[in-house]
Amino acid sequence: MKIWFLTGSQGLYGEDTLRQVAEQSQGIAAQLPVEVEWKPVLTDAAAIRRVMLEANADDSCAGVIAWMHTFSPAKMWIAGLDALRKPLLHLHTQANVELPWSTIDMDFMNLNQAAHGDREFGFVQTRLGVPRKTVAGHVSDPAVAERILAWERAARGLAELRTLKLARFGDNMRDVAVTEGDKVEAQLRFGVSVNTYGVNDLVEAVDAASDADVTALVKEYAEQYAVAPELLGERAESLRYAARIELGLRGFLEAGGFKAFTTNFEDLGGLRQLPGLAVQRLMADGYGFGGEGDWKTSVLLRTLKAMSEEGAPGGTSFMEDYTYNLTPGNELILGAHMLEVCPSIAAGTPSCEIHPLSIGGREDPVRLVFDAEPGPGIVVGLADMGERFRLVANEIDVVAPPEPLPKLPVARAVWRPRPNLRTSTESWLTAGAPHHTVLSQAVGREELTDLAEMLGVELVVIDADTTTERLTKELRWNQAYYRLAQGF
Ligand code: MN
Repeated sequence: MKIWFLTGSQGLYGEDTLRQVAEQSQGIAAQLPVEVEWKPVLTDAAAIRRVMLEANADDSCAGVIAWMHTFSPAKMWIAGLDALRKPLLHLHTQANVELPWSTIDMDFMNLNQAAHGDREFGFVQTRLGVPRKTVAGHVSDPAVAERILAWERAARGLAELRTLKLARFGDNMRDVAVTEGDKVEAQLRFGVSVNTYGVNDLVEAVDAASDADVTALVKEYAEQYAVAPELLGERAESLRYAARIELGLRGFLEAGGFKAFTTNFEDLGGLRQLPGLAVQRLMADGYGFGGEGDWKTSVLLRTLKAMSEEGAPGGTSFMEDYTYNLTPGNELILGAHMLEVCPSIAAGTPSCEIHPLSIGGREDPVRLVFDAEPGPGIVVGLADMGERFRLVANEIDVVAPPEPLPKLPVARAVWRPRPNLRTSTESWLTAGAPHHTVLSQAVGREELTDLAEMLGVELVVIDADTTTERLTKELRWNQAYYRLAQGF
């Protein structure tokens, strides 16, 4: 995916100045922290509209950065901005860092006019109600680069969402409220297409996996994880069946072009184990997942995976708030799931184990067990409020468990929510946010904020400065704003 870099000017300046504008604009584009495609300087309404329509039509264009190097009378931008359907970043910068105080003359003044050219552009964007991110400062400033990068990651997440296909095996868990949602609205708002497949379609793919492939995959497990001796000995057949599930599931998803999926322990058809290890490994490879048919969390997980910087440290996983440590002064949340936590957040080598599962009524499932890597992170939930979607995020600090957890046979994360457990949970509950979340140590609040802006979806952030009182008011204001903003 590429970002297009647009420079605004006008014909009035003459050839010489416009040549300088083009050169300096290419210089700015070259310093940007993202891969950009530089476009010729725009000086009239027809060209502006044309380039915006081309950006819309080009699947490899994730978004558009615009900068008014000189004064670009903004009525020229109305048709183009009105047509633009890709994310927009307004970069308020200039070619030089320092003013040449001793030599500055009117030629320099006329060439370097972003200070008022961008104000003209800001006005027209606000007048038209164009959603965008505004970033001010010289491109050589690392803080500017970081904010542009965050926006670009969000734009990549959006591009992924627009074409995402999600396969559900079975419906969602019976009688559960928060995992329900409007799939038509989700497809309109996000782009994701969510469809259900009979779990026995998956069983067919699982049963069809070849013994040779199963053997090869079990060998891979033994290389990557600390596999429990019983799984290589008397219970080897269970590990082979787990590998079979992975092969069948992966093949099904690849064949259908799905990058996200859900399972439901209430609807396992002919599957002999609840998929644990397979789900964990697919998440690690970037697939979205939600347990109990939770397609919204699966969509969110895939989106955040797509937004994560490739090769950067920090993982992203499906998560569930499970239980608390309420010791005064050391309040913690223990998050986990029945099986399905992504090893991308693991500290150290996961161990591959088999234990009974009291739910689902099938054979004992194989799973990876580990503690999450300590460090700052975020948990995010997506709720359907009936008339619209709401994202809620909490900034957290993952910590090492205060003591080993030898009897807990699942992967888990222990974290301290900001600002503290009481305010965090009161706020979370007041916002009606879900128990299933995405925990990420790779994507932060700025990326999420940019994504929410691109989607036109509410984002409520609980952070070190949150008070329950202010957050309750924010929710009320938001309710009014989003109801008005969506019109009739
Ligand atoms: Mn769950």
